[in-house]
Amino acid sequence: MRLSQMLFVTLRDDPADAEIPSHKLLLRAGYIRRIGSGIYAYLPFMWRVLQKVSQIVREEMNATGAQECLLPQLQPSDLWKESGRWDTYTKAEGIMFSLIDRRDQQLGLGPTHEEVITAIARDMIRSYRQLPLHLYQLQTKFRDEIRPRFGLMRGREFIMKDGYSFHVDEESLKKTYQDMYQAYSNMLRRAGLAFRPVEADSGAIGGSGSTEFMVLAEAGEDEVLYTEDGKYAANVEKAVSLPADAEASAFTSYEKRETPGTDTIEKLCQFLKASSTQVVKNVLYQTVYDNGLTVLVLVTIRGDQEVNEVKLQNELTRLAANYGAKAVIALNVPNAETQQTWAAKSLPLGYIAPDISDEYIAGNKQVHAKFVRLVDKTAVDLKNFVTGANEAGYHVVGANWNEQFQLPESVVDLRKARPGDRALHNPEQTLSSARGIEVGHIFQLGTEYSQVMGATYTNEQGEEKPLVMGCYGVGVSRLAQAAVEQSYDKDGIIWPVAIAPYHAIVTIPNINDAQQVQIAEKLYTELNQAGIETLLDDRDERAGVKFKDADLIGIPYRIVTGRAITNGKVEVVERATRQSQEIAIDEVITTLKQWITAAINNK
Ligand code: ATP
Ligand code: MG
Repeated sequence: MRLSQMLFVTLRDDPADAEIPSHKLLLRAGYIRRIGSGIYAYLPFMWRVLQKVSQIVREEMNATGAQECLLPQLQPSDLWKESGRWDTYTKAEGIMFSLIDRRDQQLGLGPTHEEVITAIARDMIRSYRQLPLHLYQLQTKFRDEIRPRFGLMRGREFIMKDGYSFHVDEESLKKTYQDMYQAYSNMLRRAGLAFRPVEADSGAIGGSGSTEFMVLAEAGEDEVLYTEDGKYAANVEKAVSLPADAEASAFTSYEKRETPGTDTIEKLCQFLKASSTQVVKNVLYQTVYDNGLTVLVLVTIRGDQEVNEVKLQNELTRLAANYGAKAVIALNVPNAETQQTWAAKSLPLGYIAPDISDEYIAGNKQVHAKFVRLVDKTAVDLKNFVTGANEAGYHVVGANWNEQFQLPESVVDLRKARPGDRALHNPEQTLSSARGIEVGHIFQLGTEYSQVMGATYTNEQGEEKPLVMGCYGVGVSRLAQAAVEQSYDKDGIIWPVAIAPYHAIVTIPNINDAQQVQIAEKLYTELNQAGIETLLDDRDERAGVKFKDADLIGIPYRIVTGRAITNGKVEVVERATRQSQEIAIDEVITTLKQWITAAINNK
């Protein structure tokens, strides 16, 4: 392609609304254009990158025996009502765009395709002989994200590869899951990305069945905790660890103490000259279930620890049936305003004890009248601990479980693992922290959807069984931007060769020099004929402008038909290293072919 004939517009300055480098660079270099909040046009360079990423994804998927298809984006609400997700997705979480057609039928724009694929499987899979089966698609997804940001990283319209597999049993599912783990690792390696597979939260169903593929970058929205020995890596939402040992308590007898102005753990510990590991902290949460019921939750945890709200939400989801509900739609620490909607009297905030009375709650149809009391393991083992006295300005010291306080029945892991914690698999290893961009997620779904939607098959014994399912997603457009986030310098993008929109750019420093033009034209034609995807910068611009633009758009190799042509040579510059060398004109093609093949295969 000739730049003179392209829509080629680069910006000198950073666009005001872009925060992270990859977003700024893709805008400045003319890869993408913002059309609305979380809505972007993929311009020709971007589209080439996206197609290259898609092709790598396809090849790796096909190699596992998965088959490509294309499912509808317009999805009838009935399907989502069958799975029970319509209200949560359109109202509670509000992630799904929905609409009403001219026949007054409700439809949603697909944020994901479990319902559609399960309906197909229900209709078409009858027998174990048809299994296992794995279908995937590459498609635009729609999600009305609360905070669309960072360009393609979190769009409201984005490209995803999503695949769904069906099995007779868990064993067969696990095999495909392993194949996907390998396929995803291959994809990312081939696309030239540094990544880490991490254990991921799999919601209330739990199990070890979920891995996220994280591209490591400062701008990542996720925190990953890992050990140096490479044996453990998990999303912080899911991570487990050994907490620091608690210090022995200095308080040997039970006593109520006046502790004025100590409504935080820090102030309390300073006042009592105690370690936060001797304190039992009681944190109040408020949750709203999908049936509209508000439930107050008291989490009791060791003073130096923090609550992992994902683990807490999973536990509350497991408890949902006790309250006639299926899902949690909100979870937060109640503020003064929300407290007014249920508090019967003013709460001793900052001084709450594990046994705070249910009388603080004015229960009614909308509000459950009792606290759900959960205790984290870290608080269970404490002896002679310090905790609130249920009275502002007072704490108790030297308290013990089943003496002054009854231990809450539900002991659960609710603590947030932290960098520096010791690892479970080997306490000599400590957890380190890194930021990651989640580009892929593989997940063992089990029979969650097949059961509610009645998707069954007949096994060898003639029995009807629910299909066992897995699902596997790659954020194609997010992955492409993540590549930039991992690879750029002050002058622009440095594309990994495998996903660069073009391999090479031939730059003519002076288009009024007939010899420069002639050699450039010849190289341009021959390179393309040889399968080296090449641009020609034939614009009537100063050489400096052209070099700057080539650096900005990040094409791996720049070929300059400058002064060296008088010696039968051209200058070839590698974008990543900036190394420049003069190469004989008739060796350019073989040399570049070698470099490109090596670069693509080494990754
Ligand atoms: P996140 O936690 O980042 O919102 P998710 O858990 O909702 O992701 P999945 O439903 O598992 O994501 O979707 C599969 C993949 O699609 C993700 O791993 C991610 O790479 C990509 N993805 C999800 N949401 C977006 C988005 N709003 N914009 C771009 N890519 C996305
Ligand atoms: Mg999401």
